[in-house]
Order: sequence, then C-alpha cells, then structure tokens
Amino acid sequence: MLFKNVIGQTRIKLQLTKGVADNRVSHAQLFLGPEGSGNLAMALAYSQYINCENKQTVAIEDGTVHGDSCGTCPSCLKAQKFIHPDIHFTFPFVKTDKKEVCADWMVEWRQFMLNTPYGGYNEWITQIIEGENKQGNITARECQEIMRRLSLKNYESTYKIIILWLPEYLGNEGNRLLKILEEPPENTVFMLIAHDQERIINTIMSRVQIVKFPRIADQDMIPAIVERFKVGLPQAKKIAALSDGNFNEATQLIDIHEDANTTMIREWMEACYRHNVKALFAWNDRFVKMGREQQKNFFQYCLHFFREVLLLEAGAGSLSKLSDAELKTAEGLGKVLGVDRITFILELFDKCIYFVERNVNAKIMMTFVSVTLLKQFQSNSINTRPFYEKWSR
Ligand SMILES: [Zn+2]
Repeated sequence: MLFKNVIGQTRIKLQLTKGVADNRVSHAQLFLGPEGSGNLAMALAYSQYINCENKQTVAIEDGTVHGDSCGTCPSCLKAQKFIHPDIHFTFPFVKTDKKEVCADWMVEWRQFMLNTPYGGYNEWITQIIEGENKQGNITARECQEIMRRLSLKNYESTYKIIILWLPEYLGNEGNRLLKILEEPPENTVFMLIAHDQERIINTIMSRVQIVKFPRIADQDMIPAIVERFKVGLPQAKKIAALSDGNFNEATQLIDIHEDANTTMIREWMEACYRHNVKALFAWNDRFVKMGREQQKNFFQYCLHFFREVLLLEAGAGSLSKLSDAELKTAEGLGKVLGVDRITFILELFDKCIYFVERNVNAKIMMTFVSVTLLKQFQSNSINTRPFYEKWSR
C-alpha cells in the first residue's frame, strides 16, 4: 500500500517518513488508534516504504512534503501483494486441527488486508474465519514462531518487519515477546497495531514507542468516500457524520439505503404515535428479519436522526444535516415529543446498539423497545424506567 492510499492522517505520514529519512526508525512501535482510523493501513504503507528501493517525495496540498514508496520496485511489488519475505504478519486467529499458526491463515489474511484494510476484529473473525462464536487469540505457539522468524537471516531487504495486529489478543503470552521487543536483532522493526490500550499488558506498553492515531477528520473522510464509493457529496457528508471518523463504519453504511431508513423510522414512529399495536408488531417482525449488521446500522441512523430532532427542537435547525424528506418527519416528532423524551429515546437507541452487538434476541429486545417508545407518545410523564433492566436479567 502507498501512503497516498491511506486516508488522511497526514501528520503521522510526515512523522514516519521523516524518521526514515533521518535514519531514526524505532525498533518497536505501537500504532494506537480507534477502529477504522487506518492504523493497519498505515503500517502496510510504512513497511513497504521502509524497504522501497526507490523512495519518492510527494507534495501535499499545504505545500509540505512527505515520502512515499515508488510502487514499482521489486520490493514494493512483493509488499503490495503481501508476499514480501521480510515482512511478517501475526494476528489473532482461531486454532483448528489443521491451522495452528498465522502462517496457516495467510491466504485469508491477504484477502482481508486487500479488501478490508480498515476492518476490525469482528470482520476478520466472523467474515473470514467464520468462527462466529469462537474467540480468536494469539497463541504461545505463534509467539515462538515470531522468535523463529527473527532468528533467520533477512532474505533480501535491509529491514525485517513484524506487523503484529491486535496485541490485545496476546494476553499474558505477550510476556514471551518482552525480551525481543527490548533488544531485537539488528534492523528489525516491530509494528504493533492496536485499538484498545487498556487490553494490552503493561510490560508491552512500556517497551514500545507509541504513535497515536486520531479518528479520521471529516475533511479527509468525505473526499475518500466520494472517490472510493462513487457517491454524491451530500451522501458522503452524511456517511462521514454517521461514521464519526471510522472508515470501517463508513464502508458498512454505504450499503444502507438512506431513504429506506427514513421510511422505516417514519413507519415505526407513526405506529407508536397512532397507538397502532398491530402495525407496530408487523414492523418489529420486519426488523427482526434484517441481519445483525443492518440492525446495528439502523440504530446508528436512528441516533443520528434523533440528534438532529433534538437540534431542531433546541432551535438550532440551521445546523441540521437532514434532507428535505427527513426534515418533515423530524419536525413533527420534535413537536410531539419535546426535548426530555427525545433525550430519553437517544439513550434507549444507544443501549440497543450495545445489545445488538452482543447478539441478544432481537425479537424480545424489539418488543420492549417498541412498547417503551409507544409509552413516550402516550403519557404525559416520561417513562424513564430503563427497559433493559426489565428483560436483561
Ligand atoms: Zn519501491
């Protein structure tokens, strides 16, 4: 991957390429950033750049310059196909009888890096490994494998690079790597790619140089969405707002038809408002049939939508990002519900995402959610009793 194909994060590109130019490549670095911020993509670009035989410079908009790989030298060609003999990968996986180390999963892993370099643990484990209910991890055997690879001579490049994706899944096995992280063989670079600092053992944290990745800025996200998904600017802006700097999320949201979501919300709210229980349960049945990702995305859209309703009610309509069709529904809802109930509903939807992610029974959840909503339209007082306390026991 070239740096130019990594979305935004210009400051980090500058910092990394300058480090190479000044011959100051730290031997153990932790790329720490939220999911979808592009820290794996950056590691792929960085590892290719370090070993590129014909490094380039590119000028960016504000006149500053950073390095990039040529993309055509023998080293780049191999790096781009993820078959460079001096760039090694370790990642969480599900151990089976036939597949005991990461090397056994390389075909799938290359596919993942090619198609989903902004993907997270869930995409990798559920879509690629299909071990939906199995927990992936990085095993003791895989740690030994890293040591073995490090003991070999470099094949063709000056630097040997180990890209370790999600050290969160190392657990205490990570202690096996401490010595090597502290004193790696000459010209070895460790790149650890992590999302959650809390889940990495302290002994590792204290031995790496941390490069912090912010969420992708809207100004970088919007053109990337337009270019990669061939959508119009208004839709790209909306997806950027919804995905909150997470390109993985943006990729998933692109599949969701905006109008379909608006219609669904309108029908749902109408059934609640008119106290039409039959329509409400028919709506629930339709919702339950959607896939889990689609359900999650719908609630994310609901969060976005009701935040806008809140803005309208607070008199900040000029800031609204809603389309004309959405605006009509939103204004009506704002008038009927008022600020307190809307706030309560936002909390409700936030909890729904939490439960959908944890694979709860959608039918039971939606019965409670719909009935709770119904009550918001009915009573004069707010029903603040959290629905989830009732059924999650
Ligand atoms: Zn090159």
